[in-house]
Amino acid sequence: MVARNPAQWQGQNTAGEPWQQALQTVISDGHELLRRLGIDPQALPIDHEQPFPLRVPRAFVARMQAARADDPLLRQVLPLLAEATQQPGFSRDPLAEAAAEPVPGLIHKYHGRVLLIVTGHCAIHCRYCFRRHFPYAARQPSRAEWSRAFDYIRHDASISEVILSGGDPLSAPDRHLAWLIGEIEAIPQVSRLRIHSRLPVVIPTRITAALSALLADSRLLVSLVIHANHARELDDSLAAALAPLRRAGVTLLNQSVLLAGVNDQVEVLSELSERLFAIGVLPYYLHLLDHVAGAAHFAVPEERVQVLQAALLARLPGYLVPRLVREVAHAASKMPVFPPVRP
Ligand SMILES: *Cc1c(COP(=O)(O)O)cnc(C)c1O
Ligand code: SF4
Repeated sequence: MVARNPAQWQGQNTAGEPWQQALQTVISDGHELLRRLGIDPQALPIDHEQPFPLRVPRAFVARMQAARADDPLLRQVLPLLAEATQQPGFSRDPLAEAAAEPVPGLIHKYHGRVLLIVTGHCAIHCRYCFRRHFPYAARQPSRAEWSRAFDYIRHDASISEVILSGGDPLSAPDRHLAWLIGEIEAIPQVSRLRIHSRLPVVIPTRITAALSALLADSRLLVSLVIHANHARELDDSLAAALAPLRRAGVTLLNQSVLLAGVNDQVEVLSELSERLFAIGVLPYYLHLLDHVAGAAHFAVPEERVQVLQAALLARLPGYLVPRLVREVAHAASKMPVFPPVRP
């Protein structure tokens, strides 16, 4: 098969496309994706029966390399047959989140912070996602049901931060977010708002002028945690989209997941941190893979994790080294993973 340049096959510029339109034209057919990239489908056995199907915006596909079956961006989204193999120790709810949901849509696991599941939808389906087996879309709270969550927050004086999560909270329309944020602002003891979203990375036009204004005008201290795993995900359109948020004083952070075949190399992780900083984003967390069924092929062996971490610390300024953490069910925080001390 002849390798083509993705920018050519695309035949259109997605850079200025409205985000809702980009969401409607995501690629969901594995063979189509491989064909567009000039990769022989015989070379990559795809699972077409996946209950968590392929879903990837074209703006993200445009950053993949043509004719590279091992492309780190492609690997994050392509449902391989390997996912169907059961692996011991990989389960459907590895974090036992179901136990920490006092009212529908609100997860209260850590002191002072609650997480709201704003929507079950995502623009992209990441194969390593620990929420891949959750029926979020089926139980999305209505406005009336959200009032229980707001009451819960109002009655717990210790809660000072509300985190919008999902699914992807920015797949909700701006007017819904404006309503939600308005309700949160009305709770006196809440001082911080955090949004965890992969949408700015995969569809940069999601950062609309209305969204920037909404966050700029909030009385809350706002942070946005984007989610990128590889420097190639961070293109100039993202840099441009984030600029108004920076000017508005929004704190920009990134979280990544350590993934075999995607970013388990010290050069790749360093480049990611440096590129993030160049576009005004600080590395926050580097998560070890959650042991969710279907993601075993992304696991990085423990010894390799330690080698990588020591190499990163030896190479980068401290503020560009993300905190390496793992999620432990029922723990009081995400658990730091420390490198062994070698004097
Ligand atoms: C990760 C997470 C948070 C936020 O933790 P930080 O350490 O503050 O980033 C809050 N609630 C839940 C349920 C989480 O998984
Ligand atoms: S919740 Fe985040 S990691 Fe999971 S599929 Fe959605 S965008 Fe990807």
